[in-house]
Amino acid sequence: MLQSLILLAISIATRKALSKLGNQMSELNDQQNLPANESEFLKGECTNCHGHFEFPKSGLGEIVACPHCKTSTVLIATTEEPIAPPVVIKSELALDAFKTSDGEIFGHFIKSPSQEYLLVWSDQWAAGHPRTKGPFYLFHGKDEICKGQIQRPNDGQVADNGSFIFCDWLFTQNLSSVFYAFNRCGEVLVEKKLRANLYNAAISQDGLFAACQTAVNNDSRQGELLTLFDLTLRKEIWHINPPFCPEFYEFRTRALELIIRGCSPVYKACVLNMVPASKG
Ligand SMILES: [Zn+2]
Repeated sequence: MLQSLILLAISIATRKALSKLGNQMSELNDQQNLPANESEFLKGECTNCHGHFEFPKSGLGEIVACPHCKTSTVLIATTEEPIAPPVVIKSELALDAFKTSDGEIFGHFIKSPSQEYLLVWSDQWAAGHPRTKGPFYLFHGKDEICKGQIQRPNDGQVADNGSFIFCDWLFTQNLSSVFYAFNRCGEVLVEKKLRANLYNAAISQDGLFAACQTAVNNDSRQGELLTLFDLTLRKEIWHINPPFCPEFYEFRTRALELIIRGCSPVYKACVLNMVPASKG
């Protein structure tokens, strides 16, 4: 009896919380004249306390007060079916020697999805030179079209428009890093210093968006942070603490959606809106 009373209380509390959020959401819809699609509700999770709630699909990306912890959270959708962790198949980065304008370089390389561009880099720390900056080179076909240096280039990726990204692991044992995005001329599009180590990063196939994820740093709010960048505007769109650590990034540029997948035992994927969240 007591148990069922407690369950009932929890159920009522949850309903109240949901109806409060629902009210906020319908207010948001009214304010922005968005078509309220009552039939399409998504399951979401607070990016702060990880409490669960539902919201209309039109609210994706909005900032609302969490019904559980009351702090503001971005409305993101999570799929609920518990599934076995996906088999992680990362394209193996290969090592090879390349002829560059600085002579022969032995380094990692990766090609753009179209195979048109080739990005080569060498982390000198890993090669036993802890204070030597790591060079990188971008080739278009056989032509080297730009080059540069950062402290410790890692996790390079190049898009079909020649824009490319790096996680700079820096010459330090402190938990810090820099995320870089460059255009095909080697100009810096984004340089984001982070007080945590970078876990991974990705660039959209068309080169219009990029995202990076940091690893744990309990002494900084920038730990376990997912940051999205608009490379055309050369600025950050938003940052959140995602419900799980992304291993795969799927940029749907047309729909302005970013889908992340990871090894979460709970969530299959998380759908994020790539437009800046309006302050609710
Ligand atoms: Zn919360």
